[in-house]
Amino acid sequence: MYQCDVKTMTDKIKAFSKFGDTGNGGITRYALSKEDIAAREEFVKRMKAIGAVIETDDLANMYATIAGSDANAKRIVMGSHCDSVKNGGNYDGILGVIGAMEVLETVVKQNIAHKHPLTAMIWTNEEGSEFPPCMMCSGIVSHDYMPERFRDNFEYHKMMASQSILDTKMTFGQKLSSFPYKGEMENRISPEKYKAMFELHIEQGPILEDAKKDIGVVRCVLGQMLYRIKFYGQAAHAGTFPMKKRKDAFYAAAEALCYLHQEIDKLGYEDLVYTTGEVVMHPCVNTVIPDFFDFSIDVRHESASVLNEVREIILKLEQKQWQGCRCQVVLGWNRDTVYWDKKLVGYVKEAAKELGTAHMDIHSGAGHDAQYISYMLPTTMIFVASQNGLSHCEQEYTSPEQCTEGATVLLNAVLKCDKED
Ligand SMILES: [Zn+2]
Repeated sequence: MYQCDVKTMTDKIKAFSKFGDTGNGGITRYALSKEDIAAREEFVKRMKAIGAVIETDDLANMYATIAGSDANAKRIVMGSHCDSVKNGGNYDGILGVIGAMEVLETVVKQNIAHKHPLTAMIWTNEEGSEFPPCMMCSGIVSHDYMPERFRDNFEYHKMMASQSILDTKMTFGQKLSSFPYKGEMENRISPEKYKAMFELHIEQGPILEDAKKDIGVVRCVLGQMLYRIKFYGQAAHAGTFPMKKRKDAFYAAAEALCYLHQEIDKLGYEDLVYTTGEVVMHPCVNTVIPDFFDFSIDVRHESASVLNEVREIILKLEQKQWQGCRCQVVLGWNRDTVYWDKKLVGYVKEAAKELGTAHMDIHSGAGHDAQYISYMLPTTMIFVASQNGLSHCEQEYTSPEQCTEGATVLLNAVLKCDKED
């Protein structure tokens, strides 16, 4: 077994936390921003220092590759994203890049024999913080490999037209065209050139910490569905219209939301999660009874039949009475649970076991670039514990020792994959 170095891991974590530093322990580093450029410069500098060959594709995804003993063998790639949400932390995404860099550095430093070329990678615009959607560039690259019903979401021209939430005149395509790390389409990751992908990531939840484990052997990304629940009422004057005659869309929605919580909780699935995170109200004036209210509900679980039970509860809302308002349920989108490649999951588990780490099987509740790449290549993920389960905030933290342990498991799992043929 080989070990990564806590000193060089810590050095990299510190170095990257400067790019977009908010001064409060976290970063704001949007894709294609000057902070993103600075992070990529650091990546290039450090990877060139170990003799890696740097390539970038037409979406500015970056690849640093060291040769293996067989020049014709397919590459094994490790990577994640280096962009963040607003006031995000120093670990989400970038840890997977740092871990991949550490693996390459360790292989070079310790002169570890391997057959396949090994690649450390940065994905562009995973968070979609300025230019939605999330996981944009892994989605575009995987477009031709994904099931037909998802393809529409990642059409190249649509993604290029994605508008900045900060500058209404700027599209993703415009910003990308002048980005210094935009390269050639022929450099994109593909099944012809790549054998497998590993993504190291923070858990972003409390499961590992609560179980006193450091490493998560990730089996899958949970199935997910998003619905919009809309209520249509009647606007009227807040001072003159009697309570009994009202069709208040907000009141209707509030009742329906409580009903949903009661009915879904009655199903009794402890690992089922659902969230109402977005609402729209019209006209949203304090002297007018609302005539329209719309709320989102995002539901996640591994089992399709559990998601179906929840779906039935949601669809039944339309047939019920809600303060005299009409209710309409609209499907936003849904996706099935994505299972990682069994062989690769096995390598991660073996490595975690042989290294004597405190590990457990886990699922991912969040989406990651790896899930789209799984339509193209054998793919898997490794999680490290998140302190207090926090992420997408400045308090996000994983200790240097746990980060290094994650990189060590990654290194040894990749070497097992390297040896399989
Ligand atoms: Zn992430």
